[in-house]
Amino acid sequence: MPHFINVILPLPLEKHFTYSVSAGEAEFLQPGMRVAVPFGKSKIYTGIVSAVHQEDPKIYEAKPIEQILDKTPIVTAAQLAFWKWLASYYMCAEGEVLRAAIPSAFLLESETIVQLMKDVEVEEEELTDDEYLLYEALQRQSSLKINEIIQLLDKKTVLPVINSLVEKKVVVVNQEIYEQYRPKMEKYVRLDPKHASEEGMHQLLDELNRAPKQRQVIFTLFSLSAKDKDKPLKLKTLAKESRVSTNIIKSLVQKGVLEEYDRQTDRLQYGGGEVSGSMELNEYQEQALQEIRAAYEEERVCLLHGITSSGKTEIYVKLIEEMVATGKQVLYLLPEIALTAQLISRLQAYFGEKVIVYHSKYSVNERVEVYQNVLNNSSKAKVIVGVRSSVFLPFHDLGLIVVDEEHESTFKQYDPAPRYHARDAAVVLGHMHNARVLLGSATPALESYFNSEHSKYSLVNLNRRYGNVLLPEIEVVDIKEKHRKRRMTGHFSDRLVEEIRETLAEKEQVILFQNRRGFSPILECNTCGHSPQCPNCDVSLTYHSHNNQLRCHYCGYNMALQKKCMACGSPELSTKGFGTEKVETELKALFPDHKIGRMDLDTTRGKHGYEKIITAFEEGEIEILVGTQMLTKGLDFRNVRLVGIMNADTLLNFPDFRAHERSFQLMLQVAGRAGRTEKRGKVLIQTYNPHHQIVQQVSMNNYADMYKEQLEERRQYKYPPFYRLIRLTLRGRDYSRVNEGADWLATSLKNSFYENVLGPEFPPVGRIRNEYYKNILIKIPQKQSLGKTKGLIEKVLQSFKAVGAFRSIRVVVNVDPY
Ligand code: ADP
Ligand code: ZN
Ligand code: ZN
Repeated sequence: MPHFINVILPLPLEKHFTYSVSAGEAEFLQPGMRVAVPFGKSKIYTGIVSAVHQEDPKIYEAKPIEQILDKTPIVTAAQLAFWKWLASYYMCAEGEVLRAAIPSAFLLESETIVQLMKDVEVEEEELTDDEYLLYEALQRQSSLKINEIIQLLDKKTVLPVINSLVEKKVVVVNQEIYEQYRPKMEKYVRLDPKHASEEGMHQLLDELNRAPKQRQVIFTLFSLSAKDKDKPLKLKTLAKESRVSTNIIKSLVQKGVLEEYDRQTDRLQYGGGEVSGSMELNEYQEQALQEIRAAYEEERVCLLHGITSSGKTEIYVKLIEEMVATGKQVLYLLPEIALTAQLISRLQAYFGEKVIVYHSKYSVNERVEVYQNVLNNSSKAKVIVGVRSSVFLPFHDLGLIVVDEEHESTFKQYDPAPRYHARDAAVVLGHMHNARVLLGSATPALESYFNSEHSKYSLVNLNRRYGNVLLPEIEVVDIKEKHRKRRMTGHFSDRLVEEIRETLAEKEQVILFQNRRGFSPILECNTCGHSPQCPNCDVSLTYHSHNNQLRCHYCGYNMALQKKCMACGSPELSTKGFGTEKVETELKALFPDHKIGRMDLDTTRGKHGYEKIITAFEEGEIEILVGTQMLTKGLDFRNVRLVGIMNADTLLNFPDFRAHERSFQLMLQVAGRAGRTEKRGKVLIQTYNPHHQIVQQVSMNNYADMYKEQLEERRQYKYPPFYRLIRLTLRGRDYSRVNEGADWLATSLKNSFYENVLGPEFPPVGRIRNEYYKNILIKIPQKQSLGKTKGLIEKVLQSFKAVGAFRSIRVVVNVDPY
């Protein structure tokens, strides 16, 4: 009897492929192991075995595999089941899920590039002959492709050699795509041991008699270490505390009085500090915790609706503690990791080295390490903190999933496939593992709240801020009227200026929020109204004052600022709209003596971009922080008293059925950054529509009304949660082809779904990078079978692809688009 295996290849192919194996191989192989297989004319891919069987595929002749790459599975049965669900729910290939799900270092293929690990030191005896040969070759040549290695080693089966070298941390693969992860080092100082005795100290102070500044440093050092003898002391801190320049300290280092050393300050890595017990909950938290526990008796998923700063995190910690005590794994999902270094250090303080972080900016090797720790159920991987892609890790005995800030739209993946929503995927994952799921938010997504009202999830409320801190007072400022009365300075109302001034006088901090989306400054001619457009996309170019440039935010096209209108030659140009940069500029003119920082996509590039700004703000080096949505993501600043929302209208007017819900969430979340300690915070909302229902609901902190009203609108206009949505996006370089194709597709879909097909229509930006976009939206009523609907859509898509004229058009399917 011949033997076969089915293999999932990391390609957008619908089916698993069948390969033939020997009886011995069939005996050895298990689902979840990697195999290298030939595909196409000459390519080799790494695939995952999904089944071992004896059924001949018949329609094609099964090729033999190249070789087996694992001794034990690296993908669990639970993962395979989860992938299957994802692929079917989100209408993509399992191969696409596979690509997203496991670190690319696991997926060697003929195009893979192999390089030596940086600064690697190798014990030669630990390498096999082949490994050594490759290692040696890589010292001469900076990188090799798999095909070259095949020639070098003069054998076909080279992947095990490479895999083994990856495991031994000698080589890295596909590294150039990823930034090498380098921990940030910071300079620390301590007293040279020879001065440590009392005698030595006196002698030292005598010696420094004539260097008062240096003496000052030593005194400061003594007083700081008197407080906490073992606490490492940053060079910067010492300079600041002793009010001297860092040069003075450096000269003490040169003299051998002080010793300088480096420490890694990446706060995502556990530094080995004390592990403390978790905090004692207050009565409201305790009550909520009891309710959550009780809820789990009935329902697997619980929604915790707790206002900002109510202490949700501490409740999560209690639940995690209980779960970790039973030896189970916990997944803690966050919308954005860079912003939550604060949270990670809090978790590390409780769970020490049991916490592991799956970071989107980690290098391939680090991801491999996390993956393997989770796979082996290592004691270092009990509490797994990560962004959306961490739902793909190979969990064992998963007991609890926490989805923090569950309303965040960053949980949805846009591109590439699988276009999944990590919260929804987590609910399914929890179900598959029989694990509990806790969704937490101060402003739950409409869908989640709806689910809790319709007993799909249980609901627990927490309505008090921790320490009985009051919610901030919210004041709505009518800027239409302020303009009329000439009380505006640029984009600042007199009220906002007053409040900022007062806050700064009290040595407290200010956050100013300006949503940039679609509202960055553009240049407009006062004479003819022309504004410069991107040649590749259908958008106006955005004006950036710091380098006097016009830039496209979609494709990066840029040009120097023109002095005259390009259409009519008029020199009278003005900027329209404003972004964070404009706010910052105006602010500097208004408050020239205060330190102002800006946090947005432009200022937070690079791995530590966010952290630098957050740390500077935490340490008071920035007094006013201007920023975009990034500011809203669960940050816990202690000294912020005032939050200003520069303009609520841009949020409210965004053309999207979720715009109102999102505006509510954003404004309430950013408001929640104010006054998180005893003193009551203040929030100013500037708007042209002070009576807008959302603005009113934010100012009354009235989630219930917002929910009721928005839900009614969703019902009326047939949107989620009453209808499900599937969006098809057509894309192509030929304008009329895309139009034709879209019409064809919409017409065919209307044959099955009638008035529930909307479009085709151009999205707000109809052309990006010279490709035209067109959308078709399919609305699916609750009673209509989702499975059948998808089946029909797939059929229509197949006929579409069969039309020769449409071959150049790409169709992207997005289930539950956000
Ligand atoms: P949320 O996530 O609900 O916005 P946090 O969990 O960040 O709120 O808590 C707000 C603040 O209150 C944090 O600084 C936290 O350390 C503090 N806090 C919360 N619960 C407790 C507790 N039980 N004991 C001491 N401090 C607490
Ligand atoms: Zn003009
Ligand atoms: Zn462009």
